Amino acid sequence: GVRARPDARALADRDRARLLHPFLPGEQHSRIVMVEGEGCRLRDAEGREYLDATAGMWLCQVGHGRREIAEAAAGQMRTLEYSTVFWDYTHDRAVELAERLVGIGSDDTRRVFFTSGGSEGVEIALRMARNVHHRRGEPDRTWILTRDSAYHGAGYASGELSDFPPYTTGFGPHPGQVHRLSAPYPFAAGEAPEKATDLLVHELESAIDRIGAHRIAALIGEPVLALGGMVAPPPDYWPRVEQVLRRHGILLILDEVVTAFGRVGHWYAADRIGVRPDLTVLSKGLTSGYFPLGAVVTSEDIARTLGGDGGFPVGHTYSGHPVGCAVALANLDIIEREGLLDAAERAGARLGEELRSLHDIPLVGGTRQYGLTAAVEIVRAPGSRDPLPEGTYAIADQIRDRTGVLVRGGPRALTVAPPLVLSDRETTEIVAAFGEVLSGLPVRS
Ligand code: PLP
Repeated sequence: GVRARPDARALADRDRARLLHPFLPGEQHSRIVMVEGEGCRLRDAEGREYLDATAGMWLCQVGHGRREIAEAAAGQMRTLEYSTVFWDYTHDRAVELAERLVGIGSDDTRRVFFTSGGSEGVEIALRMARNVHHRRGEPDRTWILTRDSAYHGAGYASGELSDFPPYTTGFGPHPGQVHRLSAPYPFAAGEAPEKATDLLVHELESAIDRIGAHRIAALIGEPVLALGGMVAPPPDYWPRVEQVLRRHGILLILDEVVTAFGRVGHWYAADRIGVRPDLTVLSKGLTSGYFPLGAVVTSEDIARTLGGDGGFPVGHTYSGHPVGCAVALANLDIIEREGLLDAAERAGARLGEELRSLHDIPLVGGTRQYGLTAAVEIVRAPGSRDPLPEGTYAIADQIRDRTGVLVRGGPRALTVAPPLVLSDRETTEIVAAFGEVLSGLPVRS
């Protein structure tokens, strides 16, 4: 049966009285009460329709409203709603999903540790990195290298690794032992992309010299900087960074929370950028957001070290949740059956092409696309590369309110990462929404 539409006004008032939201400026701010979704569309309690070019929080690969996934979850709940993977306990769904996650990669010797989300996965990967060195007789390897414009999560350590001021100001002392490198973001740095890698690799080598390789556990990075503005590095960046890390015994943690499961046209972005990470963090597209689940995939080497002597001494109640695993399996089935890796690549190429029509707009500094991620750089003045001092958050709100297209604002760029099932018509609708609002932006003198 169809549910009665909730009263949007009343719900907003009840929300104001009882919910604490992340990043909501001001108690009296309006609320958007979402009630249903299908494909790339969402509908709110007032009946307004949205085109979700953000795929929720960049996670809904297969689109909203998939009955098949709902049924997988219900079926699993009826059979075995919960069981743990602590100690010697396991269950069929966790085993199947672990095999599947390894099988879709290019290295079939890897192993899987399940978490409930991305931040939790990053925390686990950091503990693994340090613990591996500790067990191998290098306990001084504790420093982590990270990069500007990175986002790795909201925990104490993952927040510290993020270039995200709200997490690092207002909370007292920092965990520390983190070194920040420049981001491979040639547009922001005002560099020619073909020179960028030389400079960045040189900076990495100098940092290792200064800190001392014997004190560095790992470098963590997103293949594509997501919150940083959907920034894909120059093609030689990751392979060259990997070479330097290997030479110094520093582990590579790839944060694929956003980039895995088709977002850049492959199951794993690692296979596109050409690296073999020691640890890969997964979440989001793993279940398309139908259930909170994450995973850390480790190399065989690391799994062997951590599996020795007492085993890896960290775990969470919801590790390997059977319903999460069943949902992930159903989600991966859809991605495979519907050929969504190729579909994402095709939709992305088309989106990238159509976005070029925005280049004549005075405050558009440029556009870029990589897989099914895209960004529009907004600048302070025509011809400049300086961002708007206030960022692009209010412009994203304007696009939503005027056109119904959901895009994400940021410190510099507007970004999109739609569901992988995006149609040609929806692609054009996204670009038209950008055009309508951006062409009306006042050029300040
Ligand atoms: N890593 C990346 C690259 C992310 O974009 C995010 C969230 O957006 C996280 C980690 C944190 O994941 P979660 O919000 O599930 O804790």
